[in-house]
Amino acid sequence: MINCAIELFSIFIIMITLTNPSYRIVSDHLFAEVRQSDNSGQKSLHSLRSFEPGDMISKFHAGEIFDHPTYLTVQVGIGKHITLRPEFLQYINHSCDPNAFFDTTTMQLVCLRPIEAGEEFSFFYPSTEWDMAQPFECYCGSPKCIGIIKGASYLSAETVSKYRLTDFINKQLKGRLSEERA
Ligand SMILES: [Zn+2]
Repeated sequence: MINCAIELFSIFIIMITLTNPSYRIVSDHLFAEVRQSDNSGQKSLHSLRSFEPGDMISKFHAGEIFDHPTYLTVQVGIGKHITLRPEFLQYINHSCDPNAFFDTTTMQLVCLRPIEAGEEFSFFYPSTEWDMAQPFECYCGSPKCIGIIKGASYLSAETVSKYRLTDFINKQLKGRLSEERA
């Protein structure tokens, strides 16, 4: 009987954990908050309001400019990699099924599909990155997941055709295509 009660209690705790993922709010911004997961320690940026496709979520600009990529930079050209301002935008993680896009021509973060309040912002790293400094294996869990994320230069024409890409990446892909045909 006691065992049974303990088991029920454990199930209850597991259910609470599953329904209330635990995190703490690191910082609060006008339209978004940075959360840190208690389990993984990973930080992520979550929306505080809803957005519709095409909405501008935020403007951004360059903090520092580097000639090489780091895990924090966004690529805006050949040998041109910027850190993001406002700085909290750096907590937007990768997804193979993203809801946001960094347009490095207009310097606007744009909504790609409906976003609800509380939802995590995500973007497709290869939409801005040609050849990444720190490739990683993706566990985004999306049925569209492409596995290893290394940058747009490693992706097939079919895969990249499914994503919105920056003008810079599109130009690079065009260059690759004409090289292949030459
Ligand atoms: Zn993925």
